[in-house]
Amino acid sequence: MRNYLKHFINGEWVESTGSKTIDVINPATEEVIGQISDGTKEDLDKAVAAARAAFPSFSQTTKEERIQLLNRIADEYEKRKDDIVETITQELGAPLTASEKSHYNMGLGHFRQAAKELESFEFTETRGNTVIRKEAIGVSGLITPWNFPTNQTATKLASAFAAGSTVVLKPSELTPFAAIILAEVFEAAGLPKGVFNLVNGSGEVVGNGISSHPDIDFVSFTGSGAVGQKISENAAKTIKKVALELGGKSPLIILDDFDMKKAAKIAIANVVFNSGQVCTAATRTLIPKSKQEEFIEAVKEALPNFPVGDPQDKKSFLGPLVSEKQYNRVQEYIEKGIEEGATLIAGGTGKPEGLDKGYFVKPTVFTDVDNKMTIAQEEIFGPVMSVITYDDIDEAIEIANDTVFGLAGYVVGEDDETVTKVASSIRAGRIVVNGARADFSAPFGGYKQSGIGREWGEYGIEEYLEVKSVVGMPS
Ligand code: NAP
Ligand code: MG
Repeated sequence: MRNYLKHFINGEWVESTGSKTIDVINPATEEVIGQISDGTKEDLDKAVAAARAAFPSFSQTTKEERIQLLNRIADEYEKRKDDIVETITQELGAPLTASEKSHYNMGLGHFRQAAKELESFEFTETRGNTVIRKEAIGVSGLITPWNFPTNQTATKLASAFAAGSTVVLKPSELTPFAAIILAEVFEAAGLPKGVFNLVNGSGEVVGNGISSHPDIDFVSFTGSGAVGQKISENAAKTIKKVALELGGKSPLIILDDFDMKKAAKIAIANVVFNSGQVCTAATRTLIPKSKQEEFIEAVKEALPNFPVGDPQDKKSFLGPLVSEKQYNRVQEYIEKGIEEGATLIAGGTGKPEGLDKGYFVKPTVFTDVDNKMTIAQEEIFGPVMSVITYDDIDEAIEIANDTVFGLAGYVVGEDDETVTKVASSIRAGRIVVNGARADFSAPFGGYKQSGIGREWGEYGIEEYLEVKSVVGMPS
């Protein structure tokens, strides 16, 4: 049992002022694996006061000091590799291989990248007789979801520290243990006290407390659109800057000159990775009508290469969903797809054979999907692919953009001109061509209802800075 009933405030592990606790469940076994404190408003106030007190000195540290700090953090993080991998598998249900290759590496990548970005980052600039200074924004409140417990915390924290902002973090109550390890990493790296504060608890109390706190200057949130709206409303009362990383319903456009077997593998991997609990998942697969039969055959053939099973088993490609709530939500969407007349060619409702315990779902593929259907418009957050056909490339682009979201878009094809046209026509913050790998310097964020602001790399650091003009500065 992991009992982490203390918050990390002002460089120390402190008792909660409340007595309520929250159970953390392993979604593969449905067993309670530990507890955290259900933080209170008083806990949050203490954390904000600590961050506020640490701000004047941390914001004045030099760029070189912060580069060294970020690299020490990355070094300490590397020492905790086995712990991080095992923890994410236990609390999220991600298979060990994904915990290591994706979750662990992404966390590390953001700390190293922020250090690298700082090397060339200019905090001052002269225009005419004005000196423009970029200064740390103040105290940042960070609210993170459960689907990438190290990636989403690390991108926010690395950017904040690089900019000189002090923080209060509230991770998801479903996956809080990765953030506890991060706090230990920061302690070991010698982060000055008060720069990082961790308060566990619910969105209702700690989350709402952050978005409405008069002493927090900036809120960076990743999660659902509904909560993003609530945060914006609360933040408006004290004119806080808000960055939102919300959901998506991203299209993958498969061009007719691309090998359908390769396309099927790329499409499936993208939809089932992390059990489909990915905001950038390409859940709408757009294929040329003439290639429909060939593509469906290729999908059926490739699907068994993505087995669902025990996350402790290195052969599993997908583990369970994170919670019973997410399991039920995905079941409802699969039922809705059937009800709306889409054709089920793989998966469906219920648990996969032999996996009665745990929140496992079947990788599911619908064809004959109309883009107006619920399963093509709403974020399911499970391994569910909707295959939609198109007649020509203009129609493909029109379908791709017929969504309230704009987080990501994908295209696979051989003809560079068409690929370029697609990449420039999709209204989304990140377009991935021919299954390219992630790049930590590439800005990450959404158009439309997918969010406000950018994370990762240099653009991520900018979010945690204010811009000051000093006009007539003597030189
Ligand atoms: P969520 O409610 O948006 O949770 C994300 C984070 O916000 C958690 O830390 C949560 O705290 C916190 N939160 C909840 N209510 C809040 C409030 N009023 N003020 C401030 N913070 C608050 O997401 P969910 O319910 O876990 O998932 C629901 C759906 O959201 C998913 O099915 C998916 O579609 C979407 N989602 C998207 C992403 C993404 O990466 N874009 C990530 C996760 C979920 P708790 O600890 O209390 O949960
Ligand atoms: Mg919640």
